[in-house]
Amino acid sequence: MAKDSPRTDSAYQALKQAIIEQAIRPGTKLPEDLIGEQFGMSRTLVRAVLARLTAEGLVDSTSRKSAMVASPTMTEAREVFEVRRALESEVVRLIVKRWKPEYGVTLETLVRDEDAARQKNDDRLSIRLSGEFHARLAEMSGNSLLGRYLGEIVSRCSLILATFGRPHSSECAVDEHRELIAAFRSQDIARAVSAMTAHLDAVERRALIAHDDEEPAPLAEVLATYFANNN
Ligand SMILES: [Zn+2]
Repeated sequence: MAKDSPRTDSAYQALKQAIIEQAIRPGTKLPEDLIGEQFGMSRTLVRAVLARLTAEGLVDSTSRKSAMVASPTMTEAREVFEVRRALESEVVRLIVKRWKPEYGVTLETLVRDEDAARQKNDDRLSIRLSGEFHARLAEMSGNSLLGRYLGEIVSRCSLILATFGRPHSSECAVDEHRELIAAFRSQDIARAVSAMTAHLDAVERRALIAHDDEEPAPLAEVLATYFANNN
């Protein structure tokens, strides 16, 4: 796989980010020629990028038809949340054991930015910062494997939100993130685990609600924006 080419890598990052930030809706076709044209890549390289995203559960290219943004089923969505709860419970347990006061400062800054993005209705930033909060927690756990698995699970949660939740929502509540920080500071493992479980239960509840579809932006337009941001 040509994953080392910088062009392939920016195309991968751009597509992934556009999917995670819900700029391309689940079920949207991803024609190889359009993507190749947009990113100035051969079809072979486009296929390599799509294969990578397929392996991460973000793209569905198993059928002979054109690849499309994956649309998780309700069963898959529940499975993803089950795994996420298990992994993130372990993350918070490890964080309490390894807690450093500076972690609190880092997390508080993130939550403050998240709150500000929410107030300004900046959906893209708000989704990105919520994801970043959880990515930072995984980092603070000190277990790189947990970080890798969680990265994939959190991306898939974004897709689930795009499929079942309110459009352009991260569904992470700022108050719940604040309660997590307070639990870490209290050095109480049981409180931290229960705060995380309650948070993810709430995220799942908010995620798996029906929504009305809004008119999606044309794929070429979205790709152009994301490609520009990744170069
Ligand atoms: Zn969250």
